Order: sequence, then structure tokens, then C-alpha cells
Amino acid sequence: MEIPISLIDSLMGTQGFDKEAFEKVHLSGEQNTSIRFNNRKSVNSSNIFPIGNNNEAVVISPVLWNVNGCYLSERPSFTADPLFHGGAYYVQEASSMFLEEAVMQSIELAEPIRVLDLCAAPGGKSTLLQSLISDKSILVSNEVIKSRVTILSENITKWGADNVIVTNNDPKDFQRLPGYFDLIVVDAPCSGSGLFRKDPKAINEWSEQNVELCSQRQQRILADILPALKPGGTLIYSTCSYSPAEDEEICDWLISNCALSAIQFQLKSAWNIIETKAPLSNANGYRFYPDKLKGEGFFIAAFRKENSAETDSRPLSAKGKSERLTSKETEVVKPWLSKVDDFFFIKQHDEVIAIPLHMENDLAIFQSALYIKKAGVKLGVIIRNELIPAHELALSNIINPLISAIEVDKATALQYLRKQEISLSSNAKGWILITYLQIRLGWVKVLPNRINNYYPKDWRIINK
Ligand code: SAM
Repeated sequence: MEIPISLIDSLMGTQGFDKEAFEKVHLSGEQNTSIRFNNRKSVNSSNIFPIGNNNEAVVISPVLWNVNGCYLSERPSFTADPLFHGGAYYVQEASSMFLEEAVMQSIELAEPIRVLDLCAAPGGKSTLLQSLISDKSILVSNEVIKSRVTILSENITKWGADNVIVTNNDPKDFQRLPGYFDLIVVDAPCSGSGLFRKDPKAINEWSEQNVELCSQRQQRILADILPALKPGGTLIYSTCSYSPAEDEEICDWLISNCALSAIQFQLKSAWNIIETKAPLSNANGYRFYPDKLKGEGFFIAAFRKENSAETDSRPLSAKGKSERLTSKETEVVKPWLSKVDDFFFIKQHDEVIAIPLHMENDLAIFQSALYIKKAGVKLGVIIRNELIPAHELALSNIINPLISAIEVDKATALQYLRKQEISLSSNAKGWILITYLQIRLGWVKVLPNRINNYYPKDWRIINK
């Protein structure tokens, strides 16, 4: 693996850069696989592994900077693991799991907060943020590229959260929400050099010119989004690029152009994360080098918006209107939920959606300001006073735990996920949840003479 000379040149003399070790680790062919458990779905890591087609992967060690993260002995076929489909964990590169520390060290999480993950697809940082925030907080998970919103929504659905709103907006659109968010995470599109080991083809696409274009785009994105950050709020900026032009120089740009001050993190020496100082402002940044720790190239920095920063204080319009359920319809959905009084219910194209009550005002504001792709949890469609339950409800954490479920073995779970016919040894009738190692995978309807598999067609496993 030949690292571009101009990338090496741009790193010479920077804090923590060791040319020889850096080149060696890129030649080593070493690959790490790491996953992060879903702390709101009760999984016991010792009973879920080994996984993969041939039971090839086992947990070998924890990720030092994330309590839910761990490394696997090798990369298994995640498609062949039913727990992956049930949202029991997310496959995530270990360095980027440091976002957890960055958030915990820069904002009070016990309070209800409003969080925006601006560049969110496919959802790695959003699922991590959702695991961290309190139930009364809100996460807006946004992706500007329309074709990438589907996978983002799917991953948020699997995660089972009710307090996430998925939007498809340009960063500029958030200027309609001045001073709104307590925390904004910008995991910026970048030149990607930090992931050369995972995707060697990316080396051919790397150029100094592209680094410059990325740097300009990062500034544009940040300038567009900062008005939406509350005075006193936190901005977290990250990239998977090594280039100072996309990392420390962006920190300098933020400090000199926006009313921000850098936040310093407390690091444990065992983590081997390199703290850097931006050349002009001395702002703190944090670099992850694969020759120093078990993870890929990553950069992260956090900032506080000054309390005195100017904010547009015009009242926000909250014109969002949604069709509400009749009281009769509400009675139909009640038995399906665990804490029914915590929600209000809306109807969209006949589908009933449960939204946490604490999000009522925010949702109305977002409806007039943003393009919402998903909010709350879809419960299903009411037909003749009966709920036909949605897949989202099966995967969500708001479902009534008393709803009938049948635990299946791995072979049956995979048949189910392929949307094939399955047979069950149970006398239960009607709508039944299929679970594997207690993780819910979806619905079947058991009729007197057959079992209908309700796994969504678009989600089914299609390889062998
Ligand atoms: N945060 C994601 C995660 O952890 O799974 C990864 C995000 S990826 C590094 C950057 C994202 O920014 C991509 O999804 C990309 O589509 C989006 N993006 C590209 N151009 C953008 C722009 N001009 N403004 C905002 N986001 C952009």
C-alpha cells in the first residue's frame, strides 16, 4: 500500500506523526473489526458469540474508550447473524466510537437536550448518540443525500428508538431553527485517508486537490449549521482524514470565524490518542493513528459556542398539523405499548405513528422547517378495529413486553429473515413476535392452517 507522498509531506513535523510506524502499519494488512452493543436492547455479549456462517468470530477485547464497544477476532458474515438484523449491535470502526467520550466530556447528559447529527448516514454516530441521551432528549438525524436516507432510517428503526427524527435537509435549512440545538455533531464528508487500510481503492481517489475541495466544503457546512447551535451549546467536528487542512486548520477557521472556544478532553494514557494544537488558535484536536492504537485514522474536536453569541430570536413557527387518532382508535393501539401515556398518536397515509409526548412541540416546529423522513415509531394500520402491526413496532423498545413471542433457533431465524416459510412448535395464534436470543426480529401471523411471515420484503436476506 503506497501512501501518497504529498499526504506524508503534509504530516511531517505534526504532533504524534511517526512516518516509519505509519507506513509500516499501512503495509501490515492488519484489519480490525469492532461492534458496539445496543445498550437499550438487553443483549448479553457472552451468549451472542460466536457469530457468522461458520461461527468464526468471537469477542476478543473491549474498545478502551467506549463501554459498549468490543473487537472481534475476525470479520464474520454479519448478514448470517440474526442479532445484527434485530439491532442488537452496530458494526462500527473503533476510533469513531470515541464520540461517546467526546459527548460525555462536553455536555450534561442527564438533562433533556436537543441533538443534531448533521451528516448522519448510514447511522453509526446517530445510534451511538441515541444510546447516550436521556429518554426525554431528542435526536435529529439528518442526511442531505436522498439515496442515503433509506439506510439511515433502517438503522435507526433497528436501534428501536422512539426519540429520533430522521430528516433529509441541506445544512442551510437548519437556519430556520436559530439557536435550537444543545449539541450539533458534524461528522463531515472528507477525503477519507484515515480509512485507507479498510478501503485501499480510496488511495487512487486521493489527491491534494480533493483535500482542498473537502476543506472548503467542510467550512461551508459549518458556516451553514452554526446559527442552529444554542449559545453555550456544543459543536463536535470529526473526519476520517489525516490531512491538517481538514482537521486542525478547520479548527483554526472555526475559532477565527465563529464565536467558539475549544474544549479540552481528559485522555487516559492507555488510549494512545494524540492531542494536537491547531497552528493559529491552539485549539485542541484529537488524532487517532493506527500505529498507536487499535483503530483507523480519525480526528475529532469539540467547541463551545460563546454565551454572548448573537442569535436570531424570532419566534419559531410551529404550524405542523397531523391527523390525530380518534379515542376509539387510540383504544385499539393501547394494548401494544408498554407506557401508553407517554405518547400521542398521529396518522399518516393510514399508518399510526407513536410520538413521545415530550416531542410534541418540537415535531410541530420541525414539520414547518424540515423535510421529515421518519419520526417516532410506526405502529401499523388500523383495519376494522384491529391493528395490523408494523415492523418498526416489533423492533422498537416501546412495545408491550407482554405481547406473545416465540423464541426460535438460528436456522429458523435465518429462514424467517429470508422471508421463507417457517414452522413453529407452539399453539399460539394471531400476531406473534419472532425472537432469537430474546432479540425481536419481526412478526408472523399464525392462522389455523398456516403461518404468514411478515418480515418486510425489502429487508429480507437475499444471499444464500
Ligand atoms: N456520521 C456517519 C456515520 O457515522 O455513520 C458517516 C457520515 S459520512 C463521514 C459523511 C456524510 O456527509 C455522508 O453521509 C454524506 O452523504 C454527507 N454529506 C455529503 N455532502 C454533504 C454536504 N454538503 N452537507 C452535509 N452532508 C454531506
